[in-house]
Amino acid sequence: MTKLTGQCLCGNVKFEANGDVMMQGNCHCTDCRQSSGSPFATLLFMAEDNVSISGEVKSFTHQVDSGNMLVKEFCPNCGSQMFGRNKGRPGSLAIKVGTINEQSEIKPQFNVFAGSKMDCTALDDSIPAFDKMPPS
Ligand SMILES: [Zn+2]
Ligand SMILES: [Zn+2]
Repeated sequence: MTKLTGQCLCGNVKFEANGDVMMQGNCHCTDCRQSSGSPFATLLFMAEDNVSISGEVKSFTHQVDSGNMLVKEFCPNCGSQMFGRNKGRPGSLAIKVGTINEQSEIKPQFNVFAGSKMDCTALDDSIPAFDKMPPS
């Protein structure tokens, strides 16, 4: 059981999560880079039902290589990227780890889309790296 709390930059959007972390990892895909404004995004996945969100989020939906539709949710006031939902994987919620207060719980287990990482990004050799998304 992991308890997580977090908020956006302005504090209008807050969340509390209570449950098992399904997985967490770094994504270096172009979508994550552009939407986060950072060299890569670190995402932590929990069951949607275990996360309660307060405050209003705005969302942007786009299609990815796999054909799945991804929904990115952000604070409409300060623009912080908060959550991601994959319509092909209902029930699971990705939390952008930069919004999480409990830093000791952030332990990325893998790198995906390492094939499109930025040249300046050094990968942690102690965790697996996949050029794209490994087959699930
Ligand atoms: Zn905000
Ligand atoms: Zn990505």
